[in-house]
Amino acid sequence: AKSGGKNRIVVFDHELRAARLRHTEIITGLRRALERNEFTLAYQPIVDVTTGKLSKVEALLRWRPSAGRPVSPAVFIPLAEESGLIVDIGRWVLEHACADAAGWYERYGLTVTVNVSGRQLRETTFSDTVLAALTRHGLPRHALTLEITESMLLATGATETARIVGVLSDLRELGIRIALDDFGTGYSSLAYLRTLPVDILKIDRSFITPLTGTDHDEQAHAFTQSIVELAARLRLSAIAEGVESAQQAQALRQMGCRLVQGYLFSPPVEAAHIDALLEHGPDW
Ligand code: C2E
Ligand code: CA
Ligand code: CA
Ligand code: CA
Repeated sequence: AKSGGKNRIVVFDHELRAARLRHTEIITGLRRALERNEFTLAYQPIVDVTTGKLSKVEALLRWRPSAGRPVSPAVFIPLAEESGLIVDIGRWVLEHACADAAGWYERYGLTVTVNVSGRQLRETTFSDTVLAALTRHGLPRHALTLEITESMLLATGATETARIVGVLSDLRELGIRIALDDFGTGYSSLAYLRTLPVDILKIDRSFITPLTGTDHDEQAHAFTQSIVELAARLRLSAIAEGVESAQQAQALRQMGCRLVQGYLFSPPVEAAHIDALLEHGPDW
């Protein structure tokens, strides 16, 4: 209703407080989630569109509090970062992703990609954590990709950023792959591309969604094509995110983007489903 400004402020204040309360509640829940075994990993297939083969899987964290409904990572990951809990949670993710992937890699050569947050990279123990997880489960270094975003570096000063870039370079020299996630959405993607040690560009879904294959999508097409060409020129591989339609997959194939990920092929699924896909062949 078109009520006065004062009433609106009351409503905002009320909503703000409710949101803050919910955030506190989530952080309290996250603190106990590890010991209560409330996390699981889902894995989303990354498919080679030229062969239809499963190329990689992305590990995505799922949280179902024992007392309630699942909470979306889009909600709890930022709060886990803010509270610092992401460090322990991220270690759990690396540990479990390496454990699951070891068998997949050994039998089928399937590799895994894991999201890491800036807060984890800032820990001086980060590379030890990664290498320990690989060793413990016998996963070779080249079978693991770490996904980072440029935005995770923006929160830090120049010295800290330089240190993180150093850590990533060292890991990369050891054979671990680095992917730049959500590519194209930051303010300085190209500048970062020059300084960051990366192997893979993950083209953000916002570039894929408008690829309808018809009418007014010429500009969208030009943007995506340019990113694919940029990747090729820099000898990086490109993965298109959020592919939902056959037209999008077709457009990407024509642009020379082989690797795609999205609901068209599969949503994130549980590990047992990946086992079944590997054993019986893909169901797309
Ligand atoms: P992201 O890394 O960009 O992951 C892709 C997200 O897009 C996933 O959402 C995935 O389920 C969703 N998605 C996949 N295909 C499609 C599609 O065709 N259409 C649409 N609309 N969406 C699709 P999810 O699993 O909810 O994760 C959200 C975000 O939470 C991730 O975005 C990532 O930034 C963060 N996240 C998830 N797991 C972890 C983790 O283990 N560690 C960290 N640091 N962040 C994580
Ligand atoms: Ca990702
Ligand atoms: Ca992404
Ligand atoms: Ca994202």
